[in-house]
Amino acid sequence: MKNFLFLLLFLVSALSPSFSAVSLPVKVERIQPITEVVYITNTGKKYHKTGCRYLKSSKVKTTKAEAIAAGYTACKVCKP
Ligand SMILES: [Zn+2]
Repeated sequence: MKNFLFLLLFLVSALSPSFSAVSLPVKVERIQPITEVVYITNTGKKYHKTGCRYLKSSKVKTTKAEAIAAGYTACKVCKP
């Protein structure tokens, strides 16, 4: 009986990755604001959306969460 329960647990854990893979696109969309890709420059302390005029000199790809954690603030021109 214990072996059966173990097998059942194994099956559930083996199946769950496929379940999360199915629901993943929805999850990715929900966390989009946190993992949103933004760009920082080597000189400024602002983060930008791609195409912003302030990114002409340098453009370092990062995420919004990382930029905020590093002390960067949103650019007032492109409003990322
Ligand atoms: Zn900008």
